[in-house]
Amino acid sequence: MSFSELKLHPSLLSNISSKGYETPTPIQVQAIPVLLKGKDLLGIAKTGSGKTASFVLPILQGLLTKPIVERNRQPKVLVLVPTRELAMQVTEVFKELSHNLRQPVKSMAVYGGVSINPQMKALFGVDILIATPGRLLDLQRSKAISLSKVETLVLDEADKMLNLGFHEEMQEIFDLLPKKRQNMLFSATLSDQLSGINRVLLVDPVLVQIEAKPDEEELINLSGYFVPDERKGPLLRHLIREMDMKQVLIFTSSGNKADKVAAKLMGNGIEALAIHGKKSQFARTMALDHFKSGKLPVLVTTDLMSRGIDINELPYVINYELPRSPKDFVHRVGRTGRSSTQGLAITFVTREETQHFKVILKKMKRYIDLIDSETMDFKP
Ligand code: AMP
Repeated sequence: MSFSELKLHPSLLSNISSKGYETPTPIQVQAIPVLLKGKDLLGIAKTGSGKTASFVLPILQGLLTKPIVERNRQPKVLVLVPTRELAMQVTEVFKELSHNLRQPVKSMAVYGGVSINPQMKALFGVDILIATPGRLLDLQRSKAISLSKVETLVLDEADKMLNLGFHEEMQEIFDLLPKKRQNMLFSATLSDQLSGINRVLLVDPVLVQIEAKPDEEELINLSGYFVPDERKGPLLRHLIREMDMKQVLIFTSSGNKADKVAAKLMGNGIEALAIHGKKSQFARTMALDHFKSGKLPVLVTTDLMSRGIDINELPYVINYELPRSPKDFVHRVGRTGRSSTQGLAITFVTREETQHFKVILKKMKRYIDLIDSETMDFKP
């Protein structure tokens, strides 16, 4: 099956190929035709399955066929997501796949944790709104946005949204939407709580279920940021604080750099130690013990040291610098997502390293969308 067989508009096909997608993933093959027909969909699929493009493409095709007459604060498409990170990722996919369309489409993310005023201003003329529930309601209450013209609703990672306790907010949002609309609900799992939502939300939905690969690597969520060298330190501190990381292993390309990164974190009130070949065995063992037992939240290290670090259920790995060899990358990110618990491996990539990073991902048969740190709001 090819993308052109899915009867997508030529300009979308061209954006798909610029993005480097060659063939549709199973969820895309199954979901796109259903969604193009305007039906409701229940998609059981994880991140990594290509689920985002499976709803982004039919939504864009739908907007292409309907001329936008007025532009105001009434989006036609609402995508609800549990986290700011996902909001940014989904928005990036909308932006990339709507590049140079005959009819320009404005997609925008809104989420909490940043000031609301710039979002209020920027909302004018939005067609596709990607939002976390709390912030969306704040914007709606202050009349910065109206949900009365929403024709398509997407719930992405609905199970996570429920786990984070967004149930009431979601219900409040549903009540603000027009009754007649297309609904798409994506979730990694199908829980009882989710079934409750399906029943009230979806009308005669088509179920598309993608089996997860029983592969260990699936447990490792990958994410990445475009970030110039001079902004890496501030971004690192921002992520550690914002994601409330209690145990994170950071990789640099040299012992010297590891020392510098750890010192800078300490200087900013984040407890961190570095271990590398030039440290005494005593210092290494002590730092590692403290890190493993959870007393030390941040350990900065190099590839050389990583082999000995075997920690159960390590939640975060950050590649402060990209390794040269894809093998090292796999080894580094493999420090997390072990013993069947999910882990997140974040990679910092400079513009010059983009190609190299793509090669690494291709070898791993993974693909991720990098978030541009320039679009993020954090202190230098
Ligand atoms: P998702 O499950 O939507 O988070 O997608 C996981 C990753 O797969 C994202 O980085 C997408 O850009 C990428 N992706 C989506 N569809 C395709 C495709 N047809 N071919 C290759 N990569 C894809």
